[in-house]
Formats: sequence, structure tokens, C-alpha cells
Amino acid sequence: MKKKIQQAFIETINREYLKCAACGECRMVCPVYGVEGVERSVARGRLALAKALADGDLELTDRVQSSFDNCLLCMACVENCAGHVDMVEVVLKSRAYVASLRGLPKVKALAFKALGTDRKYQDLGAAGARAVQSVCTAALPENSGLRLKLARLNYPTLPPLAKRPFIGSQDRVYGADKRQKVVLFVGCAGNYIFDDIPRKTVELLNALDVGVIVLSHQGCCGAPVQAHGDLRSLETLVVNNVQVLSDSEFMDYPIVTICSSGGLMLKQHYPRILLQTPFEKQAKALSCRTMDISQYLADWIGIDTIKSKIKHKIPHTLTYHDPCHLGRGQGVTTQPRALLKAVCDHYAEMPDAGSCCGLGGTYGLSHTDVSRQILDKKTNNIAAMDKVPTRLATGCPACIMQLTHGLARTIPDMEVAHTVHYLWQALICSDPCRS
Ligand code: SF4
Ligand code: SF4
Repeated sequence: MKKKIQQAFIETINREYLKCAACGECRMVCPVYGVEGVERSVARGRLALAKALADGDLELTDRVQSSFDNCLLCMACVENCAGHVDMVEVVLKSRAYVASLRGLPKVKALAFKALGTDRKYQDLGAAGARAVQSVCTAALPENSGLRLKLARLNYPTLPPLAKRPFIGSQDRVYGADKRQKVVLFVGCAGNYIFDDIPRKTVELLNALDVGVIVLSHQGCCGAPVQAHGDLRSLETLVVNNVQVLSDSEFMDYPIVTICSSGGLMLKQHYPRILLQTPFEKQAKALSCRTMDISQYLADWIGIDTIKSKIKHKIPHTLTYHDPCHLGRGQGVTTQPRALLKAVCDHYAEMPDAGSCCGLGGTYGLSHTDVSRQILDKKTNNIAAMDKVPTRLATGCPACIMQLTHGLARTIPDMEVAHTVHYLWQALICSDPCRS
């Protein structure tokens, strides 16, 4: 495995390095470079470091490793590079190479391994974490000094964990009698934190005459494991999901995702990860069946059908943030906007809606200060809009966490939620102001 990783690193870097014209255009769009302004924080600089490492001209030091770690995987450089340098691939291969030589911190390695175990152990872990969270929250009164100190730290606050995971121990079909059916890929955030997102997705789809299949053995999409270079754990997770979602009984149904990173994994990364393995064909077929919920609703169900089911429109000024892995990653930008405009007459486009929110998975925890500065740019843009919105929709649970945290400081009455939430409010909820 180690040899394979190192060979893949060298091949990738040599291939991508040849494409780079060293034009420096990536400096104009990289959010990290925008804050730090140094060459090692931008695609061109990272690529040069990786090339020197691959050629054996550079020693692997903490400083070199930090250049690969200091990337949000936001794809802004990929989208804007005339040479089509795939910087995400460069960074992922570099991180895997570093992990193969230096190993991962023990806690991280254990956590990633745990993601590949039977889900009942993860459910137990989540239940334990929830108990600790409840005790801590209850033990700290609203105005306690420690609570205020914690709030001043720049970490996005983890919302209360779900009372119980959304995915049950048995496969479930919600709306077995419906005309069409989809398989729902839930993702860890939807399963353990924002369980209202899959729940509202099911209610919304059922109301549109679509049955929803939730397979109990689906697991983590592998995005956090991939981002940290643990390829062994990654393969376990990916193979499990490919096998579960390729069950012949459900092969004819589209797979709908409600998390932009999970969707990107299934659509783009799985076929690449399983290239030249016995699962390659299944991964490609799975990729073709996968689409984001907004894509399914706008392109398959249709905006006119959505409009015909509206009970009441959203009465607030509503805006939309493009998650990097949905907009740039999957090219899904028009569908969420069309859906939101259908249910809200006060939709307002924010400036630079596709700029990264700065969370980047665990980047927000490991690079708190840079992450906060990137977030500030985003929230200042929103606060400076002619008509300041009080509702913000997006398609990624992680963006919801980060933007909720950032906007609480600039627009106190702002609500940040998944696109599905606003559609659910308009089509299902009897009183949108109380949901
Ligand atoms: S924009 Fe692309 S080609 Fe230009 S320096 Fe950056 S990575 Fe190289
Ligand atoms: S992926 Fe984003 S953060 Fe990373 S180098 Fe490219 S633009 Fe910068």
C-alpha cells in the first residue's frame, strides 16, 4: 500500500506539474492566499513544493507538510486554471504521501478506523457524545463566564446532536406506494447532527409523490478520511457504500444526496478511488445515478410541479450560498436558485456567492484564524447587501454551521438552513414562521 501511494504521488505530481504555466492566476482566487499572501499558500507554490519533494530535491519537514495542510480543497484554483491543473488531486495525493511516511496522529487514525466499523458502534459513540454535550450545556448557565469565553473562541459551535440517528437498523422505504422512488444518501451530518434535513427531505419528496429508500448499511462518504490522507480507511468506507448502494433491488433508482461533499465523493471521487479495482464498474454506475437533491427537484420533478404545491411563500429576504463542492464541484448552481425563487418573491443574490465560507471540513479547527478571516469576508459581503437578507439557504451542513457562527456576529436575526428546509416550509409546513 505504501509503495502504491508513493508511486501515485510521483505520477500525479509529474503530470500536473507539466500543465502549470506558472501564470499565477490562482493567486487571484485562492481564499487562503487572499489572507496570507505567500507563495506556499497558493496552488502554484504548493505544486512547486510537491514537485521538489517528488524529485527528491526537498526534505519532508513540518513546514513542507503545513503547505499541503493549509488548503481548503475549495476548488477555486481548479475552476480558474487555464492549464487545468487539478490542485485537489495534487493536495490529496500529497497528504496521502505524507501520511504514508509520517503516519497520522493516533487519535485521528483511531477515529477514521472507527468510521469503517459496524454503524451500531458509531451510533453508540454519538449517543455518548450527545450525553456529554447535554451535561456540558446544562452545567453552564446562559450567562456563565466560561460560556462567554467559549463563545469568543472562533470555532463554529456544534449544534445539539440528534436525539437518535436518522438511519435506523433496518432498511426503510418511506412512501412505498409512490409513483417514483429514490435512494437517499444521508451522510454523517444528516444522520447525527442535522437530522431535520433528511426528515424534511423525506416529507418533501413524499408530498411530490416520490418514495424514499433509506438503506441501513450506508456509512460515512469518506470525505474527512480522504482529506487527511488515510487511504486504507478510505477504501473500506468507499467499498462498503458502493456495495450497499449497488444492491440490485434498488439499481434502477437515482441516488439523491443532501450534503455537497458526500455528493461529490459519490459522483467524482469514488470512480477515481476504485479505478482498476474489482469495484470500478459499480463505482462508475453509482456516479451516474447520483445527484444533489436540488438537481433532482428542479430537473426531474420540475419547477412548475414545485410551484403547484406551494402552500405559502417564504415572506423573508432570502439569499443563497454556493457550497464549493456543489457549485464548483458538481456544477449545480442554477437549480437551487430556481427552487428558492419559486418559493420566495424576495430572493436576493449575494455578491460572490461562490466564495468559500472558510470551514473546509476540519480546516476551520486546524487553521482557526485564517478560516475566520475568510468567513469574515463572506459575512461582510452579505451584511453589505442593499437589502440585508434574514434567511440564507445552502446545500451543505458544514456551511450551515460555519455561516450560522459567522452571521450571528453580523446579522443577529439571520437564519441559515438547507435549501430543503425552505422548500419544506413553503410546501409542507402549516405555519412557516413557527417551523
Ligand atoms: S493558475 Fe494554474 S497554470 Fe497558472 S500558476 Fe496557478 S496552477 Fe499554474
Ligand atoms: S483548493 Fe482552494 S485553498 Fe486550496 S489552493 Fe486551490 S484555491 Fe487555494
